[in-house]
Amino acid sequence: MPLPIDTRKKPTDVKVYVSSGEGVAITWSDGHTSRYTFPYLRDNCPCATCNDERAKKGSDSSGVKSSDLLPMYKPRVTAKAAKAVGNYAIGIEFSDAHATGIYSFDCLREICPCDACAREFRPRR
Ligand SMILES: [Zn+2]
Ligand SMILES: [Zn+2]
Repeated sequence: MPLPIDTRKKPTDVKVYVSSGEGVAITWSDGHTSRYTFPYLRDNCPCATCNDERAKKGSDSSGVKSSDLLPMYKPRVTAKAAKAVGNYAIGIEFSDAHATGIYSFDCLREICPCDACAREFRPRR
């Protein structure tokens, strides 16, 4: 397993608030902190099934859409459990029984919901 060499994608602190339903907070080697809600992570689930679903919904939009940031029209997804996967990812079991999402730290930094990371990792083409 290749270790991440980009310090921006290397976590120094990972907190998953399963019982409070708050979400996930990660502090990175460069001092940046990312916060993710569970619905946001569910919408950006990197597993093959969800990738297919997103591809079907709209082939022109990949990754994070602005509508994902305010999922008020959907029932709120929470997490039932979360576990570390090796030292490179976390696996989350969601309340809708979806449990195949493995979020690598690489991927998590790229889907950080803040503006700075959006500019850095998800530049508009
Ligand atoms: Zn998935
Ligand atoms: Zn960020």
